[in-house]
Amino acid sequence: MAEVAASIDKRPFDLAAIRADFPALHQEVYGKQLVYFDNAATSQKPQVVIDRLNAYYNKENSNVHRGVHYLSQHATDAYEGVREKVRKLLNAEYSHEIIYTRGTTEGINLVASSFGQKHVKAGDEIIISAMEHHSNIVPWQMLCQRTGAILKIIPMDERGVLDMEAYANLLSEKTKLVAVVHISNSLGTINPVKEITRLAHEAGAAVLIDGAQVTPHQSVNVREIDADFFVFSSHKVFGPTGIGILYGKESWLNDLPPYMGGGDMIDLVTFEKTTYNDLPHKFEAGTPNIADTIALGSALDYVQSIGYDQIGAWEQELLAYGTERLSEIESVRFVGTAPHKASVISFLMGDIHPYDAGTILDRLGIAIRTGHHCTQPVMQQFEIPGTMRASFAFYNTKEEIDRLVEGLGQVQKMFG
Ligand code: PMP
Repeated sequence: MAEVAASIDKRPFDLAAIRADFPALHQEVYGKQLVYFDNAATSQKPQVVIDRLNAYYNKENSNVHRGVHYLSQHATDAYEGVREKVRKLLNAEYSHEIIYTRGTTEGINLVASSFGQKHVKAGDEIIISAMEHHSNIVPWQMLCQRTGAILKIIPMDERGVLDMEAYANLLSEKTKLVAVVHISNSLGTINPVKEITRLAHEAGAAVLIDGAQVTPHQSVNVREIDADFFVFSSHKVFGPTGIGILYGKESWLNDLPPYMGGGDMIDLVTFEKTTYNDLPHKFEAGTPNIADTIALGSALDYVQSIGYDQIGAWEQELLAYGTERLSEIESVRFVGTAPHKASVISFLMGDIHPYDAGTILDRLGIAIRTGHHCTQPVMQQFEIPGTMRASFAFYNTKEEIDRLVEGLGQVQKMFG
């Protein structure tokens, strides 16, 4: 990652200046200054991202790849330039290993479909973990239904830590692919993805990492992990919605059949036969999401101008402070207590339903998420209906955590 750091001027970690970059943080809801603790669902956008979208639609709007005229070439350069930014971000080898998708969900569906079509048959096995988001469960279930393959689950303990011994025992020559989440959105657990990948490769299986929750918090090196596929969503990493990334090793992407057919993904079309375009275009049918892709580039520049070392250090401080302050409330029970966690705190307060607590907090201007966080099997394992989840980004403050604790005091008074 040294390459990336060297190419972008890093700024000092000045929280007030950083917060000033995010207009949505500076508003009142129900007459109270907003506290935004729903970053794991989606993050707020810095002004540079908003401005980039505006600039594109004001002056640069044009379709990519097909035009000889100035605007089209300019849009194509900006759009393709982001591929190189993402390559650097992930430390991928080639920019054609970066495929634009609509988001994490589409990336996983693409792999489940294309990999499944070519490599999965009845009796084969796919391994996922007990803490997966629905988007890393359902596409594999659908594949298993289609092919007669079997879905195996890596169990986790009561802290939300994967059982690596059980995982090693699940692997066999029947395993075709292992798909695991890097950081759990509902528990905060940071999984040992490098070790998970090493063991899978020893068994001859491919690996997909769901990186939706990692790119907002820490640097990723797909070559060091040795991941075959890695997916994430722009909107969680301070970019726009509707754009995401699938990284795939060149050899895999060349090997897999296309996911969708249409313009741009073809080489030669006749009514008898079509040949496909080279990577990355083979997996990018139709007019893409040009504006949001270009603005994703601005979001990645912004994140790297702060730097993952500074982001990680501050978020770990927020996590420690939040955990300590919430522990002061006697009835609080944490869900997800892994030793290696990102800045996500899931918890319950006595018998108070998370939805009731979330509704009261909302009236106090505090946005947390309540429910199953698209991880219903996690809630089933803990035998709970859901949790309250406060997820912090680098722009959050300790004073905001104090507001949450105060708010929970009021919830306790009303329901306790
Ligand atoms: N995986 C994880 C771990 C997530 O947190 C999310 C979003 N909550 C997703 C996958 C799905 O991402 P998207 O909805 O952006 O496709």
